[in-house]
Amino acid sequence: MYDVIIIGGGIVGCALARELSRYNLRLALLEKEVEVGFGTSKTNSGIIHAGHHSPPDTLKGQFEWSGNQQWADLAQELKFGFKQIGELLIAHKHEDLQYLEDLKKQGDARGVTGLEIWGQKRIRKEEPNLSHTILKALHAPTAAVINPYEACFGLIECARQNGLELFCNHPVLSIKKGKNNFSLETPQKNFTTRIILNAAGLFADCIAAMVEANNFSISPRKGEEYLLDRRLQGIVTHLIFPPPSTTSKGVLIIPTVDGPIMVGPTAEDIDNREDLSTSYSGADKVFAAVLKSCPSISERDTITEFAGLRAVSENNDFIIELSPVINFYNIVGIQSPGLTAAPAIAIYVTEILRDNGLSLVRKQIWKANIDGPPHFAAMSPEEREAAIGEDPAYSRIVCRCELVTEAEVLYAIKHGARTLDGVKFRVRAGMGRCQGGFCTTRIMDLLAQESGVPLTEITKRGSGSEICIPRHDIIPIEDHR
Ligand SMILES: Cc1cc2nc3c(=O)[nH]c(=O)nc-3n(C[C@H](O)[C@H](O)[C@H](O)COP(=O)(O)OP(=O)(O)OC[C@H]3O[C@@H](n4cnc5c(N)ncnc54)[C@H](O)[C@@H]3O)c2cc1C
Repeated sequence: MYDVIIIGGGIVGCALARELSRYNLRLALLEKEVEVGFGTSKTNSGIIHAGHHSPPDTLKGQFEWSGNQQWADLAQELKFGFKQIGELLIAHKHEDLQYLEDLKKQGDARGVTGLEIWGQKRIRKEEPNLSHTILKALHAPTAAVINPYEACFGLIECARQNGLELFCNHPVLSIKKGKNNFSLETPQKNFTTRIILNAAGLFADCIAAMVEANNFSISPRKGEEYLLDRRLQGIVTHLIFPPPSTTSKGVLIIPTVDGPIMVGPTAEDIDNREDLSTSYSGADKVFAAVLKSCPSISERDTITEFAGLRAVSENNDFIIELSPVINFYNIVGIQSPGLTAAPAIAIYVTEILRDNGLSLVRKQIWKANIDGPPHFAAMSPEEREAAIGEDPAYSRIVCRCELVTEAEVLYAIKHGARTLDGVKFRVRAGMGRCQGGFCTTRIMDLLAQESGVPLTEITKRGSGSEICIPRHDIIPIEDHR
């Protein structure tokens, strides 16, 4: 019997897991995908929003700034990349200038620090490659960038080292409500718990419907993003935002934490919660918008693209509450700025649990820090020599584009990576210009060898994305090796 089961290992579920792992609770997280962070949380823009965007009378507004302020410490404790590069919200038209003023006022009132409106001279000095038709820009120095999947891995690893039990590949199929508990069915086994936290993202309404706690609905809104060649790295140094549309923050230019520029996302309401396709029309929209702000960016510079789905609730705000069913909590409708807000949401939910009678006794020993993956490419020549001396696997380069060694791939596998994406997102192998053309087979070999499964079971991101099709009439894989 668990005290609390979290359903969904996105950024919200992982942040909840870490926060609750501070207390003496029997705690588990059930995730349907093969690894955490493989839902919406890996397919976003990776921006820690500056804190001033969302209106004050919304939960988004309540948690954007408080979430923002926690990420620098989290990045240090959990050893993932974090760069506070700041953002510029630009105005091309005179009609947009009032919006800049209003947004500054909103941020100032919330206590967001450093907001300034820049004129053309300052914009040109700081960002010479932006269009000269820009009239003014609102500078928000508190905006930052991270890799969202690294944050999920760090949060969950910390929660696990503090006692959380993680069950990936465990989709919740049904929930039965007992007198004082819930019983959850997954294909592998059943779980019993006193409290359920529903953080199942796009599928949160389906989970809530299992116990008739679905007094809300979720609909998917797609966003396509385009990652550009390193050639364009540095073309802008701030996050570039246009004035928002009614459905999103608009098409952005994003200097990612690893350096390359990304552009997007689109915002399109769709019906299918599994549709992660990108499209010519999406690319057209993104590059038409980007060209207006930064004329030297070209669609031909795209090296890869992906789409993510926002989980949109009817009122367009987060829903964070005890449902009509006692001990069943919904933390749902977490669209942007959900990544930014996640650590603040986790603290808020903990307080709601306390207010509703959960006894929260702090553990005497709770470890905030994790070791984090090694990073050969960032080591000095002396550090590299020492690393190779300690472990010769550092001398074998697996990914040439990003200079990732066998030792790092093995580290990723030891810390939970079970797929090509899991390795890529932990240690960058396969993330460079050739997008895995050179290293995929080598990483598959290492995954097969370390997990003790045949190559035919190695996938890109879980079941259905196998790389090799088994052919029983050809040489067995063991002999082939
Ligand atoms: C294109 C795009 C760009 C964005 N950019 C930003 C940004 O720059 N900054 C920002 O702050 N926010 C951004 N967001 C929003 C942010 O990505 C989301 O708010 C956040 O990822 C939501 O996290 P989550 O944990 O609620 O959902 P998810 O990450 O979707 O997690 C839910 C998890 O539940 C699991 N699950 C579902 N059903 C079951 C089941 N039956 N059993 C077990 N597990 C289940 C899923 O597999 C999934 O892993 C963006 C979103 C999109 C789509």
